[in-house]
Amino acid sequence: MFEGLLAFWRGLLGRCPNCGHGHIFRTFFGMAEGCAQCGRRYEGTGDQSTGAMGISLTLTLSVGFAGGILVVLYSPDNLTVGMIILLTVLSVFQTLIYRVSRGLWIGLLCVTGAMDEDDHRDEFYL
Ligand SMILES: [Zn+2]
Repeated sequence: MFEGLLAFWRGLLGRCPNCGHGHIFRTFFGMAEGCAQCGRRYEGTGDQSTGAMGISLTLTLSVGFAGGILVVLYSPDNLTVGMIILLTVLSVFQTLIYRVSRGLWIGLLCVTGAMDEDDHRDEFYL
C-alpha cells in the first residue's frame, strides 16, 4: 500500500515512480524514454498517453465548469468578456497541467503493474 502511494506521489512530482531518482521529463514537454537511474521504461506504446490526456481533460473541464459557474454568477452582464478570460485561463491551465497529468498517469501505470505488462507485450504478439 505504502509503496503504491509512494510510486504515485513520485509520478506526480515528475520523478521515476520506480526508484524516485530519475526524471520523467527531459524538457518541459519532452519525456525521457526511461529512467536514467534504474532503466525503467516510462512508455512502451503510444496509447499509454491516452490516460494522461483523460486526466488532463477531466481536470480542465472541472476547472472550466467551476469557472463558468463563477462567471455566470458574478458577471452576468459581461458574459462574453468572462468567457474569453475563462478560455484564456483554461488554455494556460491545460498547458501547465500537462506534466502533472503525465506524471500521474505514469505513477498509476507503475502502481497497477501495467508498465510491467507492457515490457512483455512483444512476447504476446510475436
Ligand atoms: Zn528510476
